[in-house]
Parts: sequence; C-alpha cells; structure tokens
Amino acid sequence: MADGQPVDAAATHGSHVQASQADTPRYCVGCGYNLHALPRGGCPECGRAFDPADPQSTSATRVAPYLRVAGWLTAFCWGYPLLFSVVFYGNWLIAWAVLGHRPVLYIDDPASISVANNVFNYLCIAAIVLLPVVLFAGLFLSTLYAILRKWSIPLIVSQCIGYIWWWMLAIALLRGDPIGVMAWFMD
Ligand SMILES: [Zn+2]
Repeated sequence: MADGQPVDAAATHGSHVQASQADTPRYCVGCGYNLHALPRGGCPECGRAFDPADPQSTSATRVAPYLRVAGWLTAFCWGYPLLFSVVFYGNWLIAWAVLGHRPVLYIDDPASISVANNVFNYLCIAAIVLLPVVLFAGLFLSTLYAILRKWSIPLIVSQCIGYIWWWMLAIALLRGDPIGVMAWFMD
C-alpha cells in the first residue's frame, strides 16, 4: 500500500488537472457544439478542428457573439417578406375594423381612416423602401453566416438558391395580390 501511494498521488494530481480543464465548458467556434471532455480532434457536429489545450481553438460561449448577431440579421432578412405582409395586411385589417366594411378601392383612402392607419402607412412606405436593401443584404449576410459556420459548399449554394426562391415566391404572392390589399394601398 505504501509503495503504491506516490503513484496514487500522481494519478490523483493528474486527474485533478484534467478535471479542472474538463469542468470549464468549451464550445465549437464553428457551430457551438459542446466539446466538453472530448479529446483533441474534429468537432463531431461540423468537423472543425480543435484542441482542448489551445483556448483559441474553442469558444467559452455556446455561439460566438458576432455569429449570434449575424444569425439574427440573417433571420431578419429571411423573415422580412412575412414582416412586409404583416404591415400591409395589418393596415388593411385595421381599416376594415375602423370602417366596419371591407376597404373599397379609390374610395377609402388609407391615409384618412384612423391614427393607427396613419402609423401603418408610414410602416408600409418604410417596408417598400427597405425591401431592395434587405433583399440583397440578406443574400450577402446568409452567405457570410454560412461561411462563418463552416457550412459545406453545396449547403451554402442551396441556401442562396433557397433564399432567392423564397423571396421570388413572396414577391409573386404580394404582386398577385389575391384580395386586393396592395392595390388598395397603392391606389
Ligand atoms: Zn462544430
């Protein structure tokens, strides 16, 4: 027992050092995957190389702050067509509620129905002005985001095609204007 003690002490010391390193949570810089207690190598989620001994190769936070910001901006651009629709259809629904009947083209002027409609009119104009900016910024941002997250090339390309497709669909639906909301605003 006495012979084994120094060995035990060394083993205890070694495991103590390992434990203190393992207790500090570290995350993948690329995807935020929890690398807790994993040996040096590639991230199981995205394959990005890391070394637990090199703090630069891992992140203390689940997702790097700049990545989170890029993610939110990208999500905003993807969601913009929905936001755009909410503003226009919201304006139209408020007008309907205030008037007590469906807004009539050329007769019910959106600007003179209610204070709420006035506010929504400004939101609608802002939404139109911002639309081309958000459309192109979103294409750039979502590509940048995908590159930062170390997505594969086919996935990056698919995302770009998906983004363009989604916007074209949204614009076609808004231009198609099935219940005359856009026509009412534009008249
Ligand atoms: Zn990863």
